[in-house]
Amino acid sequence: MHSELNLLKSWGWSDQSSSPPIAAYIHIPFCRHRCGYCNFSLLANRDDLFERFLDGLAIELCELQKPRPVETLFLGGGTPSILPTSLMRKLLELLRHWLPLSQDGEWSIEANPLDIHQDSLRLWKDFGINRISIGGQSFHPAKLKRLERDHSPDELKHAIDVARSLMDSVSLDLIFAAPDETPELWRNDLRQAIQSGANHLSTYGLTYEKGARFWGERERQIIKPVDEDSELEMYLDAIDTLTSNGFTHYEISNFARPDHACRHNQAYWNGDSWWAFGPSAARYIGGVRSVNHRGTLEYLRRLESDCSPVVEREELTLDQQWRERFVFGMRQLRGVAWKTWQTHVPEFVRASIDAKIAEHIEHGWLQEIEDHVRLTRKGLVVSDSLWPEYLD
Ligand code: SF4
Repeated sequence: MHSELNLLKSWGWSDQSSSPPIAAYIHIPFCRHRCGYCNFSLLANRDDLFERFLDGLAIELCELQKPRPVETLFLGGGTPSILPTSLMRKLLELLRHWLPLSQDGEWSIEANPLDIHQDSLRLWKDFGINRISIGGQSFHPAKLKRLERDHSPDELKHAIDVARSLMDSVSLDLIFAAPDETPELWRNDLRQAIQSGANHLSTYGLTYEKGARFWGERERQIIKPVDEDSELEMYLDAIDTLTSNGFTHYEISNFARPDHACRHNQAYWNGDSWWAFGPSAARYIGGVRSVNHRGTLEYLRRLESDCSPVVEREELTLDQQWRERFVFGMRQLRGVAWKTWQTHVPEFVRASIDAKIAEHIEHGWLQEIEDHVRLTRKGLVVSDSLWPEYLD
């Protein structure tokens, strides 16, 4: 074991921890190019680093000391599917050893439509991957071009067809409120997504993150964002169209056909502990949140020289843990079993959350149904502005 690394300790985890993580996220920081709206931790067009990255990841995984069984695994990025077959096999072997998946576990991979074909799917499936999350974003050529995606609508449809023939669960990411997009164009995307046969859809309004190229272009008025009313109309259209076509709206941005909700993400929203590996990976274990360096080269340099890749570590107080658990739980449309929780929540936290709930029910943003408190439709559209009030 590496003397300086000692990651288990800096992650706040020991064999004695009462709730071992049951989920693990692995960040693969590579893409063919960087889309203008993206500020994730990744390197574009750096295939020369693939092998070195896997060696670094192997060092980080070694810190687990022994295999740690999990119920869900999520290979995200970046674009994990970018790895060529031999390196993908090496990665999957590593993960199968260190993070063995339970018998009925869920193993997801994020994939670019161009990487989805019979051979890649067979390899993924042989190792136990049973859920694929496709970065499709749209079925419109002009919108795909505007978002700087490298696939065509036909390539996306073909990828979904092939994925459905071999995977239990196929999820599709869609972006709305792209520059120049109209509600009618978005409704067309929704219709095509429903017809595509994907059994899980994630819909996100385009955001202009500081550090992403689109942010600068919006500042310089090269890009004109869609107005707020149209964006709201598109979000509500997604809810109405998808729920009337057999999807359950189970989280603010996520919709699933029966039995296809993403179990991995539900672990985050339920406040469970999870492992995380790779540059920028953030984990939460036993009330301790820690985050790896977001630069891939620095992440590698640290691991190669026996240093911890962790650059942030926060030990949450009991108060903070309950507040966060409440907020993450409320992202789910079923809400939080607040009346049941109350017996476990310390009195001083309970009183302040109770007061906020009452205020937000008064505004029509929350409702109480039996022992649950949850968002109303009116609350859904303002939810981002509500959460900070529960965290203070
Ligand atoms: S493919 Fe995804 S992760 Fe890669 S740059 Fe584009 S948006 Fe970011």
